[in-house]
Amino acid sequence: GPRIFSGVQPTGHLTLGNYLGAVRRWVEVDQHRGDALFCVVDLHALTVEHDPARVRRLSRQAATLLLAAGLDPERCTVFVQSQVDEHVRLSYLMECTASDGEMRRMIQYKEKTAEAARRGESVRLSLLTYPALMAADILAYGTQEVPVGADQTQHVELTRDLAVRFNQRYGETFVVPRATHPEVAARVMDLQDPTSKMGKSGQGRKTGVVYLLDEPDVVRKKVMRAMTDQGGDGGVVYERGARPGVANLLDVLAAFSGGEPGRLAEGYASYGALKKDVAEAVVEGLRPVRERHAELAADRGYVDAVLRGGAERARGMARPRVDAAYRAVGLLG
Ligand code: ATP
Ligand code: MG
Repeated sequence: GPRIFSGVQPTGHLTLGNYLGAVRRWVEVDQHRGDALFCVVDLHALTVEHDPARVRRLSRQAATLLLAAGLDPERCTVFVQSQVDEHVRLSYLMECTASDGEMRRMIQYKEKTAEAARRGESVRLSLLTYPALMAADILAYGTQEVPVGADQTQHVELTRDLAVRFNQRYGETFVVPRATHPEVAARVMDLQDPTSKMGKSGQGRKTGVVYLLDEPDVVRKKVMRAMTDQGGDGGVVYERGARPGVANLLDVLAAFSGGEPGRLAEGYASYGALKKDVAEAVVEGLRPVRERHAELAADRGYVDAVLRGGAERARGMARPRVDAAYRAVGLLG
């Protein structure tokens, strides 16, 4: 099968967006089809204001959640980015391949820079160079497919550009990867602000974000209070542009129950009835993950052992290619 790589940042508690956009597919599809690696990308979490103890806690929690969601360490490699030095080693070569201008064009950089400015915080240089580290994460493993949410398309495009450029300058070294996305819910929106992506970091707006570990009643409350659009009396229609709130709920419902969002809409006469079904679908869909997480969280030795084994395997896979890249650019290596 294809070589597959993807990751999640320990910048906050994992959300419904992370699950539907990425993690669920890693579990259900990617680990079965390919030679897959899934990573808690903790170095990326240092690109924004962070609390060391919280990042450490969230890293372990994210890894535990990946296993709880169903990643099987016998089938794929689960590890933590900072435990494999090759990511940082290669990241520097990516910084030497990329231009300042193409980094500044990244939407995520612009958005997170604006957010920092609103909070009166300075922007870390590593936020700008983030895509170089992400390119290194992907390219170190000869990755062919990168299963991500729609918001990461631009970073994977840049990764492709860097791979092609490096290969042209220094000789064939990297595989040129491509992004893959789920058919529905590739971009889950914030329930209170359905024109913005549901995201785990950032402050406020928490009521618009469903976390994987939210209690069922909390999930129900958040969904029932989701912002819907004007004009619900005329029934429920699926219109991403004009009715983003309702479209988002229909996408989430479709992701859990199957079927097409536009067709599902036809079955509802009111927003209230739709929300009720969405709430139950999310509660039931996340229940096994939450329950398994509680079991695994009690067995820290097991999770740590999985991560140790994963890091060792990942290191072995990345080392030869990163060494080759070092030699290719003219370092003694
Ligand atoms: P942050 O706000 O710190 O960037 P995040 O919620 O965007 O957090 P990431 O760790 O950046 O989470 O992304 C992990 C994976 O989840 C990526 O593949 C990303 O595309 C996907 N993802 C994140 N948010 C969503 C969303 N709202 N809908 C679908 N996929 C998402
Ligand atoms: Mg993100």
